[in-house]
Amino acid sequence: LEREEPTHFGAGPAQLPTHVLQQAALDLINYKDIGLGIGEISHRSKDATQVIEDSKTHLKELLNIPDTHEVFFMQGGGTTGFSSLATNLETAYVGKNGKLGKCGYLVTGSWSQKAYEEAHRLRLPAEIIFDSRKYDSNGKFGSIPNESEWSSNLNGDYAYVYLCENETVHGVEWPNLPECIVSNPNIELVADLSSNILSRHIDISKYGVIMAGAQKNIGLAGLTLYIIKKTILNDIQNANQTKLDELNVPVTPIAFDYPTVVKNNSAYNTIPIFTLHIMDLVFQHLKAKGGIKQQEVENELKQKSIYDALDSYPNFYNLPVDKSVRSKMNVVFTLKDSSLDGKFLEEASKLKLTGLKGHRSVGGFRASIYNALTVESVNKLSKFVKDFAEANSK
Ligand code: PLP
Repeated sequence: LEREEPTHFGAGPAQLPTHVLQQAALDLINYKDIGLGIGEISHRSKDATQVIEDSKTHLKELLNIPDTHEVFFMQGGGTTGFSSLATNLETAYVGKNGKLGKCGYLVTGSWSQKAYEEAHRLRLPAEIIFDSRKYDSNGKFGSIPNESEWSSNLNGDYAYVYLCENETVHGVEWPNLPECIVSNPNIELVADLSSNILSRHIDISKYGVIMAGAQKNIGLAGLTLYIIKKTILNDIQNANQTKLDELNVPVTPIAFDYPTVVKNNSAYNTIPIFTLHIMDLVFQHLKAKGGIKQQEVENELKQKSIYDALDSYPNFYNLPVDKSVRSKMNVVFTLKDSSLDGKFLEEASKLKLTGLKGHRSVGGFRASIYNALTVESVNKLSKFVKDFAEANSK
């Protein structure tokens, strides 16, 4: 069960800590000496229930989750979340107010764009509060306008306002949450943290719902974690079906109905318990190394190392994202001379630096430096970035 420490910068599914996978592999075969693997036992057994409880407890400790919020896990990925967030949150709004609220989206990259499209496709009253491309000097996803430029776009009643904290494809990350949303007691903030959860300190009390797919910072694809304000769960339950029908609110499929999932401790239907166990092993690993505080220190060193390397060759590398909103997880760049693209990847892979190709929609390169990538691994990439520029600059 050994392997050389990988230096894989893929955007997801992403590299996980080797010792976590080693433990998981053992538990897949024979969990706690019961003679069966953790994926082979009933999801309602004592051991499986304990995995669910442990994952919740460890996550609550890591993120300091207050009693006002509940944690649950659901099958599907971020895309499933786009749909379930829209229908559950609209149902909650109707439950509380007896009328429809708008589904507001702050579009800063392709994932928030897709989330908006899904709410619209579900025939909900979806609205783009701003699309950052309209405010960008290049007309691209590469910046986030100042609040003063868009806060006046907010008007009317919102069931929720949605943002994607870290746009994985475009490498744009919100440095702070927008004050005009979090300070408004009538607006529930819904946030996609799929690619930056557990990478930095966050204040849970500011969020109505957090959604995060597992396959980047916390585990394998297949499960998504949710942190939700308990009052939203109550509002969903209080919604009157006749009223919902009258307002044409789509019915949420039962396995994605948040109160049903929570009431059944995330096991209304068969939860992939092995996948959850890996998540919990990642949570335990993070706790043992010093929690979010320590991880944040490492992530700061990593992002500084790679951005400094790229910035020191401005005639060779192009960084399309505005410095103020550069992602600390997904570092996007291109070569000024794209005829060197193939050579860059080839030489990187000779050094076992893999997964660097940019997303197919934007091209160029992307180095994803999620939690599992060590400072040492990122420094290795930074050195390569500098050496390559030195050797190939005209
Ligand atoms: N949101 C973000 C920020 C993502 O990076 C991704 C996928 O990479 C998704 C949502 C969609 O996740 P999934 O492919 O699990 O549906």
